[in-house]
Amino acid sequence: MVTALPEIGNWIGGTHGRPTALGRATKFAPSDGSEQSRIVRSGPTEVGAAVTAARAASDAWADMAAPARGRILLDIAQALRGRAREMAETVAAETGKSIKEALGETGGAVQLGEFFAGEGMRLHGRTLPSGSPDKLVQTIRQPHGVAALIIAANTPIANIAWKVFPALICGNTAVLKAAEDTPATADLFARIAHEAGLPAGVLNVVQGLGAETGQALVDHPGIDVISFTGSTAVGRRIGESAGRRLQRVSLELGGKNPLVVCDDADLDNAVKWALLSAFSNAGQRCAAASRIIVLDAVHDEFRRLLLERTAALRVGPGDDDDLGPVINLRQLDRMEAAVAAAEARGARIAIGGRRLDRPGFYMAPTVLEGLPIADELTNCELFGPVAVLNRVPDYAEALAAANASEYGLTAAIHTRSVDRAHHFSRKVRAGLVNVNLGTFGSEPHFPFGGVGASGNGTREPGLEALDVYSDLKVMTVTIDRSRL
Ligand code: NAD
Repeated sequence: MVTALPEIGNWIGGTHGRPTALGRATKFAPSDGSEQSRIVRSGPTEVGAAVTAARAASDAWADMAAPARGRILLDIAQALRGRAREMAETVAAETGKSIKEALGETGGAVQLGEFFAGEGMRLHGRTLPSGSPDKLVQTIRQPHGVAALIIAANTPIANIAWKVFPALICGNTAVLKAAEDTPATADLFARIAHEAGLPAGVLNVVQGLGAETGQALVDHPGIDVISFTGSTAVGRRIGESAGRRLQRVSLELGGKNPLVVCDDADLDNAVKWALLSAFSNAGQRCAAASRIIVLDAVHDEFRRLLLERTAALRVGPGDDDDLGPVINLRQLDRMEAAVAAAEARGARIAIGGRRLDRPGFYMAPTVLEGLPIADELTNCELFGPVAVLNRVPDYAEALAAANASEYGLTAAIHTRSVDRAHHFSRKVRAGLVNVNLGTFGSEPHFPFGGVGASGNGTREPGLEALDVYSDLKVMTVTIDRSRL
């Protein structure tokens, strides 16, 4: 018996589903490669309808007292907690990660909601002194209007929460472009928000492909702020078009993050964090450690431990597995091709190097070595379980190697020396640096973001996200002493 695949449509103006002129795209399950769902391929018409719905809801939402907006966002966060299992099952099915990991990610999304709901009771401005004694001065935060939110699929529910909650608490309405590899996650979030009492049109979700739906959203003249999480190549294009329009834009892009292991490191701990940073979530983290830089004196012992434990990693979609599949076949093909190209340039495959011989999109955890620091992989994010191991003579070379990439998102150093820890933390080009930990690990109240090719300098989430999603206005009032 052939069963019809679920079809995932848009949420526009509180209504689910709309026909679309561009047809449908098929989404495949990463864990076994089977057809999983069909998504509508939204084009300018559907995107236009979503922006119109967001605009129509804009004044009422912006005029609502911020604590009241916060109350609704808290209701959404609590509803998400109540349906965490359902959300985690959706995330796990669409990404191939384990339910355990997906539950953790959903918990993070709930926390984000709680954090920004609380901001409804603050949204602080400042009071300022004036040179004129009779002038009272304050700053207030004002929403931009309609926010375009575009996300990647790697941690889909966290990525949605990361953008939707701060955008809405500031009084914007939003059009969220779901990642094409995690359409049902966005759809379920919109449903939960709707059922929790979010007014129609405040959050609209459009489904479809990047070059069609994402591009139509970015090009729409009715958008007031764009927040994008994705690859540097697409981020550059969005930045260019936003620049031409002088439009507010936040770009959270890729990383090629270094994890440095010094000769005084606790090697056991360093290997533990290298494995987690390079391979957990199948290496699909902007903050993954894809460059492991080890001082000569401990290189051989570190390498031995790293390869031994990499070989023991379990690959699969279950709670007992260490990493799952990558998100789609295109990614798997791209990664295998990049590994083959590196081999042709002289890289040695210390372990892994190819896809696993089973259904689904599984890449063996891979360590490459023998490449110079200047190799093109230093500036090329693969977004999968592939790490390059570099050997360097000393700390100074390790720092130089860490800073050799155009990217500058996160970094980590393993050392017992407070001097090296402090010096590295100051000197490494990154927006987040960890000592004796992995290259990832942000929390809802941390300002996350990078330098160089990793972004345009904005920080989300944390309180700094409020600067992305609101404008500051200075208000002054003068005392007329003659009327006292
Ligand atoms: P991608 O850039 O291909 O796609 C990201 C999103 O942009 C998708 O929703 C896609 O449909 C959309 N898109 C694609 N082309 C578009 C266009 N022309 N106009 C508008 N939208 C378009 O990235 P990906 O491969 O899906 O995601 C992985 C990337 O995301 C990696 O580079 C990773 O480092 C990055 N990422 C960054 C962060 C961060 O916080 N810095 C977090 C997660 C992922």
